[in-house]
Amino acid sequence: MNVPTAARTAIVIGAGFGGLALAIRLQSAGIPTTLIEARDKPGGRAYVWHDQGHVFDAGPTVVTDPDALRELWALTGQDMARDVTLLPVSPFYRLQWADGKVFDYFNDGAQLEAQIRRFNPDDLEGYRKFHDYAEKVYEEGYLKLGTTPFLKLGQMLNAAPALIKLEAYRSVHSIVARFIKDPHLQQAFSFHTLLVGGNPFSTSAIYALIHALERRGGVWFAKGGTNQLVAGMVALFERLGGQMMLNAKVARIDTDGPRTIGVTLADGRSLSADMVASNGDVMHNYRDLLGHTRRGRTKAMILGKQRWSMSLFVLHFGLSKMPEGLAHHSVLFGPRYKELVNEIFKGPKLADDFSLYLHSPCVTDPSLAPPGMSTHYVLAPVPHLGRADVDWATVGPAYAERILASLEERMIPDLRKNLTVKRIFTPADFSSELAAHHGSAFSVEPILAQSAWFRPQNRDRSIRNFYIVGAGTHPGAGIPGVVGSAKATAQVMLADAALA
Ligand SMILES: Cc1cc2nc3c(=O)[nH]c(=O)nc-3n(C[C@H](O)[C@H](O)[C@H](O)COP(=O)(O)OP(=O)(O)OC[C@H]3O[C@@H](n4cnc5c(N)ncnc54)[C@H](O)[C@@H]3O)c2cc1C
Repeated sequence: MNVPTAARTAIVIGAGFGGLALAIRLQSAGIPTTLIEARDKPGGRAYVWHDQGHVFDAGPTVVTDPDALRELWALTGQDMARDVTLLPVSPFYRLQWADGKVFDYFNDGAQLEAQIRRFNPDDLEGYRKFHDYAEKVYEEGYLKLGTTPFLKLGQMLNAAPALIKLEAYRSVHSIVARFIKDPHLQQAFSFHTLLVGGNPFSTSAIYALIHALERRGGVWFAKGGTNQLVAGMVALFERLGGQMMLNAKVARIDTDGPRTIGVTLADGRSLSADMVASNGDVMHNYRDLLGHTRRGRTKAMILGKQRWSMSLFVLHFGLSKMPEGLAHHSVLFGPRYKELVNEIFKGPKLADDFSLYLHSPCVTDPSLAPPGMSTHYVLAPVPHLGRADVDWATVGPAYAERILASLEERMIPDLRKNLTVKRIFTPADFSSELAAHHGSAFSVEPILAQSAWFRPQNRDRSIRNFYIVGAGTHPGAGIPGVVGSAKATAQVMLADAALA
């Protein structure tokens, strides 16, 4: 949709993937857009640190649905390859259990089925049925509804028959378990919800679409790290004429009656705009930035009663050598699965055991560490601060040591002998650095009762020129999710701008 240049102006608060993608869409459509970021670098959860020659990407590393990203460049006839090189990752993941079993999760059908056969030949047929199911939910849940802004209850009612037919009311794990009997394989095909902040035992079966999404589009890594994908999006936005402000924290969304008129920064500066969108945490938006309005206070109260995703404990480290035989993405399941996941999501305390995800990007791109060395991060899902009020400044260092010892025992011999640098990012950091409610890593939990129309909507119901983009709105967390949310939000904003 083309809007006459300079007809309307927009402010986007926050330069996470959602904010960047929305700003690119608005600017591409001719709306002069200012992107305002509180921190010194863009990226949000995809922030980056450089330390002793190591490049530490803070968050997302599994890049799926590259076409959703390419679309941002294609809006103005550009090619993403000008700014970003995507490298294929294979296997997608290596899964390792406490009993020593290992599953390499390949995209190639024959290789994947060979892995399944090693665990339980009888599950091959069940896997094929699960794959068919995942394809159907992908068509319905991702292609049809993934970028649809759910502004009216009627839209939800229209979608309901298809969702009921696909048994969206069941959990991902229960659907997997219907088709696949081996307990290890059940974990292998259900853990993905954790990547978007969902408990496999309560997240809607619609999220089984992630399996189809990965098999269709592949799993990729941006050359130079995810930070290079962020840098590429910033370059595109600025080439289009967009204005980016860093170190600029928005303290308040200004309103005049039922409309927003701009924002006031923490340093006192005011910026006006015809439309304001926020990529910040949804609770932060309503409680802090709109807390001076009745709408802000009411919505914050509602959000306070919702279920929030778990948090993460992330430990970045560098090694003086490259360990042999590692995969790029590894999952190390602990001795418990269902019980542990339930404790993480329902608290009330930090469990003694953990399951880990290990990121070893130098397997795909050695340039992320000095020659001969390697860069990694390992993360453990942990309860958010609203469930388990852990004093991470005290508990964090010892927790990090236990994780390193476990990695050394299970995957990287001599890890601590070769350790050169480490840094930790805890739920307390998610809260202070990203204004994340309860330090949640993925915002509002993606259960059916908090999805689509039931999720905070892409346009606010009362403040009609205030919009939301990112993990807290439809469709939800993860790079494809928030980039999809930008498409949904941009549709609404461009339609509103055209009407105004
Ligand atoms: C450790 C980790 C690993 C992950 N791994 C993957 C993965 O492999 N693949 C995947 O697809 N997803 C992954 N995810 C999920 C994914 O990273 C997130 O869902 C997604 O990046 C969130 O993007 P967002 O658009 O919601 O914005 P965010 O990244 O949350 O960014 C919001 C931005 O808004 C800014 N902001 C907030 N308030 C203000 C204010 N008042 N003024 C100015 N600026 C403000 C913040 O500083 C921040 O930069 C991971 C997440 C984490 C934490």
